[in-house]
Amino acid sequence: MASETATAAKRSGETVQWTRCPSCEAFVYHKRLKRNLGVCPECNFHFRLPIRERLVQLLDEGSFVDLSQDVQPIDPLGFADSKPYAQRLEEAQRKTGAGEGAIYGPAAIGGRPVVLAAMDFAFIGGSMGSGVGEVITRAAELALERREPLLVISASGGARMQEGCVSLMQLAKTSQAVGRLHEEGLLYISLLTDPTYGGVSASFATLGDLLVSEPGSYIGFAGPKVIEQTIRQKLPDGFQTAGFLLDHGQLDLVEPRETLRVSLRKILELHALAGGGAAGLPEVEGEPPITDAGQLTGRDPWEIVQLARHVERPNTLEYVSLVFDDFRELFGDRLFDQDAAIVGGLAKLGDLVVMVVGHQKGHTTQEMMERNFGMPNPEGYRKGLRLMRYAAKFGLPIVTLVDTPGAYPGLGAEERGQSIAIAQSIMEMSRFRVPIVSIVTGEGGSGGALALAVGDRVLMMENSYYSVISPEGCSTILFKDAAQAPRAAAALRMTAPDLLRLRIMDAIVPEPDGGAHQDPLAAAQNLKTAIVTSLRDLLDKTPDELVGERYERFRLFGTPGLQPTLPPPEEADA
Ligand SMILES: [Zn+2]
Repeated sequence: MASETATAAKRSGETVQWTRCPSCEAFVYHKRLKRNLGVCPECNFHFRLPIRERLVQLLDEGSFVDLSQDVQPIDPLGFADSKPYAQRLEEAQRKTGAGEGAIYGPAAIGGRPVVLAAMDFAFIGGSMGSGVGEVITRAAELALERREPLLVISASGGARMQEGCVSLMQLAKTSQAVGRLHEEGLLYISLLTDPTYGGVSASFATLGDLLVSEPGSYIGFAGPKVIEQTIRQKLPDGFQTAGFLLDHGQLDLVEPRETLRVSLRKILELHALAGGGAAGLPEVEGEPPITDAGQLTGRDPWEIVQLARHVERPNTLEYVSLVFDDFRELFGDRLFDQDAAIVGGLAKLGDLVVMVVGHQKGHTTQEMMERNFGMPNPEGYRKGLRLMRYAAKFGLPIVTLVDTPGAYPGLGAEERGQSIAIAQSIMEMSRFRVPIVSIVTGEGGSGGALALAVGDRVLMMENSYYSVISPEGCSTILFKDAAQAPRAAAALRMTAPDLLRLRIMDAIVPEPDGGAHQDPLAAAQNLKTAIVTSLRDLLDKTPDELVGERYERFRLFGTPGLQPTLPPPEEADA
């Protein structure tokens, strides 16, 4: 913004009043642009912000104390190109009025303390020299000392060439400082602003628990020109924008500047509540979960399968909105893709902060296509696992809602390791040292369902099913005829009463007459009651007890003398 305005001013020789938007080319009155937080009122283009303006927008007024005054750049190589590096530094210092390209110190957002570090792109292209690395490292160390969240705002072209390998080592120096925060369970939020590249994106800037950016920000490792020259291809529109990264699973959030402060404040509030006990659970008034199979009416399993698949059956995001408050959806596996077939994020259950993860279907054809009919690719499971690791790190209970016909059987899914993604999720869920409650809300399709269902308490809704294979698949393979699916559904004993008797399920969540879709509010109330009841038991347990009892829970299946067996289907129905 500054350079554009300055150019306009030079041309006109008048007081700076108008800034030209590089996106829509509209001339925007300078004060109006500033009032609009540096976002073009015509086309929503987010201008680059001078660092001080950024801090004014994000932080509580007067809360920031700059501790970076004594950090000065060094010239370890005595480097010179067209002019000596020392001279470049002096010029940058004169231009920006700062000693180096980053500042740090304690600050607050919405009254919540953070340790802030922010890079200034105006200082030699936001390049990371020793001074910048020093600032980021000190900020991380201060956050550790004060046990407060770290917020780093990046804007960088990459490492600073003029400092040679000493600059390269800043990647390691900063990353190890951030690594200690992760070990100590401290929150690190990284705000990647336009542009964040090279040695900064390949170190501390992408190591946050949360990676946040603004629409249109450019973020990447190699610059687009270098990539084009190397691969001799034109890059697609929007390549390396925040939206591109979000679609490729590499950001948690892309937040418009208008809501950025509020969003960060809410995340800090949720984290401030993290680790609460059973006292934070809300009062509930739904029907209690059923633990005695005799209380469930015997029904045709095929009818249940149809209800579990009913197109109007409430899905995960609907239950989340009815059961929880302040849901903050988080995106991406940090590896390859943003898989919409699994959703997850932070949420409040009463005053208890939890991580919710679940399969997501849709109701309309378009929604179902976007969600791949609730059949995740490996990226979906890797996102789910990433969010559950996040929960475990911060001591947040995990609630999973299971509703999938199965993991997606596709070419790409196999190429990218569907089996490995599911296996890792199953194993790590079994070891997380936080309470886990899993509820099958619709279809519990085999490994793709179990990947989100290794809980301390596993429940299912009355009209859902859980099975090692779909009835159609079983029918085709074992009965050599897909039309025998109803028979297979009965033979597989995949509905609530049988699974309760087999101890696969701990309890059954009652549904309203005719199924959950007939009265989603009542269904959600019963679901909420089941989650709260389950968590109340679990929150009193120590992490060792949780992990030990979870081990025993899954250890018993198929163990002689421990595994219950079922009477023939006719008797069970009688
Ligand atoms: Zn514009």
